[in-house]
Amino acid sequence: MTYPWLEPVAAEFAERLRGGRMAHAVLLSGPAGLGKTELARAFLASLLCLEESWPACGACRSCQLFGSGAHPEGHVLSFEPHPKKEGELRKELVVDQVRRLTASLQLTNTVSRRKAALAYPAESLNASAANALLKTLEEPPGDAVLVLVSHNPSRLPATVRSRCQGLYARLPDSEVAVPWLVQASGRQEVEAAMALEAAAGSPLRALRMLEEDGIGAYRILAEVLDDLRSGQRDALAALAALADLDPELLWSWLSLRAASEIRSRLGEGSLARALARLQLEADRNRRLLATPVRKDLLLQDWLIQWSRLSA
Ligand SMILES: [Zn+2]
Repeated sequence: MTYPWLEPVAAEFAERLRGGRMAHAVLLSGPAGLGKTELARAFLASLLCLEESWPACGACRSCQLFGSGAHPEGHVLSFEPHPKKEGELRKELVVDQVRRLTASLQLTNTVSRRKAALAYPAESLNASAANALLKTLEEPPGDAVLVLVSHNPSRLPATVRSRCQGLYARLPDSEVAVPWLVQASGRQEVEAAMALEAAAGSPLRALRMLEEDGIGAYRILAEVLDDLRSGQRDALAALAALADLDPELLWSWLSLRAASEIRSRLGEGSLARALARLQLEADRNRRLLATPVRKDLLLQDWLIQWSRLSA
């Protein structure tokens, strides 16, 4: 069931499970859009499975209960409905959730040998929730395994991080991701490669872009940037063509385009330096979006610099 790029992580998990080296807390981290949470659910199923196998057998009583979301020893902690805002989820994991989890970890098992809990995104634990969790990590109930999932582990308290056994998911090489995307989306290789670039290397985000036709906007951006450099469009025309794009997305794409050009022009010293500067500026300008700067002027200036790069 695992995505090909997660196989090394799954193999590491399986080895720890087989060798009896599973810690009480595991932190599965890596960039967003790789399927880490899905993998962590499969970890839970396997930890609870009566066969204790990786992957879980899928047939035993534990697997059936876990599949229906009713396993008494399997717990999932994530964003809950907001108590005051109808139809919205909370934006953080709160201490009540951790307390409820801790209480259920004290109960006697009725199905599986272990208890297993998943918490995601772990970086969204607020300070008091992280503190409460830390207490559980310091004195873990004998049979429990807690799996934390995070794509921003640096935002977790170091005290929590240091109590966890790490597992890392990495972005796949395009040699792995592009063929997978072609197969999953049924699209051409050139489109798959472009979507992967627009998604900063995340195959699941790229797949979503292909499915929702979100790649059209990236293609327009790529065309506009090519036109600027060949002189077929000036910066004002380019500004107009990009006016509808979400600014946050736009700056991260401009950074990606610059990075991709740098990679293909490594031999050409001054051009590569100019591109590297433009990439840095794109990243800086994206951060400036939250401040009261003239965003249109920033963008116009960037596009003018791009159009002046020697072709
Ligand atoms: Zn099973």
